[in-house]
Amino acid sequence: MISRDTIDKVFDTARIDEVVGDFVSLKQRGVNKIGLCPFHNEKTPSFTVSVAKGIYKCFGCGQGGNSVNFVMEHEKYSYPEAIRYLAKKYNIEIEEKEKTEEEIEQQSERESQYIVLGFAQKYFTDILLNNAEGKSIGFSYFKERGYNEDVVEKFQLGYGLESWDAFTKEALKKGYKLEYLEKTGMTIIKEEKHYDRFRGRVLFPIHNFSGKVIGFGGRILKKDAKAAKYVNSPESEVYEKRRVLYGIYFGKKAIATQDNCYLVEGYTDVISLHQAGIENVVSSSGTSLTEDQIRLIQRLTKNITILYDGDAAGLKASFRGIDLILRQGLNVKIVLFPDGEDPDSYSKKLGKAKLQEYIKEGAKDFISFKTGLLLEEAQGDPVKKVALIREIVESIAVIPDAIARSTYVHECGKIMEISEQVLITELNKIRRKNLSQQRRESGEAYAGVEIPISDYKSGHPLGSESESKVTEASAEPQERDVIRFLLNYGESKFLLPITDAADPSDTSPENAEVKNMEVLVSDFIVKEVLVDDLQFDHELYGKIFKEFEYSVENSLDWGQQHFVNHENKEISKMAIDLVFAPYTLSKNWDEKHHIKVQTEELGLRLSVERTVYSFKMAKVKKMISENREKIRTSDDDSIREELLNEYHGLLEAKKYISRYLGRVLG
Ligand code: ATP
Ligand code: MN
Repeated sequence: MISRDTIDKVFDTARIDEVVGDFVSLKQRGVNKIGLCPFHNEKTPSFTVSVAKGIYKCFGCGQGGNSVNFVMEHEKYSYPEAIRYLAKKYNIEIEEKEKTEEEIEQQSERESQYIVLGFAQKYFTDILLNNAEGKSIGFSYFKERGYNEDVVEKFQLGYGLESWDAFTKEALKKGYKLEYLEKTGMTIIKEEKHYDRFRGRVLFPIHNFSGKVIGFGGRILKKDAKAAKYVNSPESEVYEKRRVLYGIYFGKKAIATQDNCYLVEGYTDVISLHQAGIENVVSSSGTSLTEDQIRLIQRLTKNITILYDGDAAGLKASFRGIDLILRQGLNVKIVLFPDGEDPDSYSKKLGKAKLQEYIKEGAKDFISFKTGLLLEEAQGDPVKKVALIREIVESIAVIPDAIARSTYVHECGKIMEISEQVLITELNKIRRKNLSQQRRESGEAYAGVEIPISDYKSGHPLGSESESKVTEASAEPQERDVIRFLLNYGESKFLLPITDAADPSDTSPENAEVKNMEVLVSDFIVKEVLVDDLQFDHELYGKIFKEFEYSVENSLDWGQQHFVNHENKEISKMAIDLVFAPYTLSKNWDEKHHIKVQTEELGLRLSVERTVYSFKMAKVKKMISENREKIRTSDDDSIREELLNEYHGLLEAKKYISRYLGRVLG
């Protein structure tokens, strides 16, 4: 593990404009630098870099972060990979932290396997390019397939000699241990004899997400009816089929920038598409995607396009597997290839431009596609049509996003020429069934009560009434302002007048000469919120506030940089958003209320107080409406009385706050 010290050094040294500047050309614009966003396509720059704050933010696509985040996002590196990259860039020596014995053992076990596989790849590629048999049989096969040298090199293709143990012998001679040759499946041991697994085959190395070779696929070249066309590495500690996607390492950047991932059948399809200039492509090696593989794609995009080259029967068989992709919240499209063509063969026939056009034109969203296909089969038979509705709706029901569901219901209604209401009723039935099944499976106490699904009220497919009510009474904008203020001005100080007046709210600016105390904005805000025991409803704001509270209590002086570089990605993203959206409310208010701000300090003080008291006001209003609702629905007299007392207390508080707000508003 990389030591904390090294990580801190990297953070302290890396300059955001230099790090970004290696990939994006930046121009000075005011205090910031701007350029064309590398994460989405744009013609006018909305990608902003703040050198002072050490962060970037794109106003087009919303991406934002610090130097480490940028490298992770742009190069698709893991956190340690990004730290190593930056350390190298700035010549920072990497200190490794001591590992436990167990960690070392585990690591060296895996490391040893990676090392053997890395050696194997280099060996097989060398044979392909330099050995007589490799060149005449292996390389000429790839040439015949139409692969150019660039793509052979890029995918590190190789060739295993027609020999029992040429590879194993060489590996042992070079000092690689038989144990790891066997564990990685490169060598088969039978009756104390060693055999190469891949003999007389061209080889496709399989890479993991960060580019390490973890296994091979080998295609036979002889016409041999008995031998399998493809032989693959067996499962091993480093090669777990269900977690691997062929092509992910070479495709990850393109998948992220195109925001779409093509899914094809095998090695040859992936490579041919690359050669045709289409790089956002992976293969799950013929089987339907596993949840692990879907998660791998989800790190890069929410959109999958399946390039399908089989017949209708095979496609229908894969429908269940596609439901799994929908369930994970991805959008699925399908492109069908003409009879007898796969992406590999068709890319050669059409060439780059035409193939890209074919895919673009041919992509249909999965639900509409399935609907059309089944409808064709039903051929107007009403009994079949009923079954068909069920099948379609089952796919729609697994989609987690309510908006997407309602869009599909609408689409399918149109295609099938039936009313949306019929589909909605069916959908709710299925979702209810699925939900109670999930509850049973997850061991939750199942009370036998049907939970109404509120997504679809008649005529209003989106959002239930109760939901919208909650947002009306929410103090979210005020919570946001408080956090925004803490992040932007928390480290500033202002003068707070102290008075001996009985009414502590009587601190109007005119009396400011009485006595002044210098306070830190973050101290002031945190204490004001705590003194009234106010809570944040918004989870993330609540988390950020808790950290400010902790910082104030322990005099840690956590400020903007702490949150912008926070290890919790959600927090850092929110902090960056709020830092780039500076407080503008006070300016508008100044104009609206004709406040003459005498000094900058006084301006800051007024803004802080407004922010805090607006927050308090929103909270009190919310409590009042909740209290009213409780009074309305309560039928216990003693509880009602308590609630009424509370109600009067809240009204008092509201009066007090409005008086205060009136003052600071001028
Ligand atoms: P051909 O030249 O006859 O078209 P191919 O090498 O293109 O042969 P296909 O039979 O067309 O192979 O299969 C397409 C893809 O499916 C291959 O690239 C391969 O990745 C994958 N594939 C086929 N059979 C297997 C198998 N037994 N194991 C793993 N992958 C396979
Ligand atoms: Mn083929």
